[in-house]
Amino acid sequence: MGKIVLVCGAGGFIGGHLVKRLLAEGQATVRAVDLKPLDQWYQRFPAAENVSADLRDLEACRRATAGVSEVYNLAASMGGMGFIEAHKAECMLNVLINTHLLMAARDSGASRFFFASSACVYAADKQTVAQLAPLRESDAYPAMPEDGYGWEKLFSERMCRHFAEDFGLVTRTARYHNVYGTHETYQGGREKAPAAICRKVAEAKRSGRLEIEIWGDGEQTRSFTYIDDCLRGTLLTMRGAHADPINVGSSEMVTINQLVSLAEEIAGVRVQRRYNLSAPKGVRGRNSDNTLIKSLHDWQPATSLRTGLTELYRWIEDRLAQAAR
Ligand code: NAD
Repeated sequence: MGKIVLVCGAGGFIGGHLVKRLLAEGQATVRAVDLKPLDQWYQRFPAAENVSADLRDLEACRRATAGVSEVYNLAASMGGMGFIEAHKAECMLNVLINTHLLMAARDSGASRFFFASSACVYAADKQTVAQLAPLRESDAYPAMPEDGYGWEKLFSERMCRHFAEDFGLVTRTARYHNVYGTHETYQGGREKAPAAICRKVAEAKRSGRLEIEIWGDGEQTRSFTYIDDCLRGTLLTMRGAHADPINVGSSEMVTINQLVSLAEEIAGVRVQRRYNLSAPKGVRGRNSDNTLIKSLHDWQPATSLRTGLTELYRWIEDRLAQAAR
């Protein structure tokens, strides 16, 4: 096979699933790169060319992009609200990955570059109430993104745009909204709300201490995108003709309390909720407007939150059971 596709951040959650999907397509050799040592990757496939490297380094990016025709950049130091609020500088240093990968992709003659952006680019003043209008792509401006992590994403989106305009590198950007699914981080401080809540409920069930902590008052709203829907949106975005950022998110908005109730139903337990009002909680409300991706690609999420969360809950419950053995 002549074509090589590079997946950066392949040892993480979305990157690992993407490698699996690209290998299943069988159209190209897949080069998979991540900072973590190989034995710490969330998923690893012998059929891919697996490399451990720090993509903040320009020379590492040049080696990674050598001979590739497409680059998917999903490499970033990131996590849930607890992580990004406490590690703003580290999140902003992701700009080194994006800058050096763009330069290396341009110089190696790659034809397409995908950038994983985030709903955290959206302006804070448009997310102050729980029952908000879904966020359209234009709502990123005037800019007031999430401090640290969101600023870096917005800046890197612009850099992708200008690499396309000035250097002719075709760039595509998806703004992911809260992606969840199996093989995601579920403990250790970088986990996001769906995995954190499933883990807390599963731990409460195992221990019999039926109480969990919830960050904030639980009335903040979000929408959550199942990994399979995210992958479909990613590939359509990368392979499509639309140059500006596109929302890849679910529009099934729920409060965090509703998310907890769903996890309880799946687990078959009821837990006492202890609200920690001083914990990081992010914006008050967030939902994805999918008008653009629906009109461009006829994409809409195919997986309900109930179905997707059931998969995630069962997977986390299994992991906890294995760890206890
Ligand atoms: P993840 O943390 O599971 O994966 C990111 C991977 O990048 C990790 O395995 C990490 O080791 C790797 N990485 C970090 N620094 C690196 C470096 N210097 N060189 C090489 N690899 C490095 O996160 P994810 O959920 O899979 O997210 C993938 C991308 O999607 C990220 O850019 C993230 O910001 C973006 N995103 C994710 C979500 C979500 O809900 N998961 C939402 C919005 C945007």
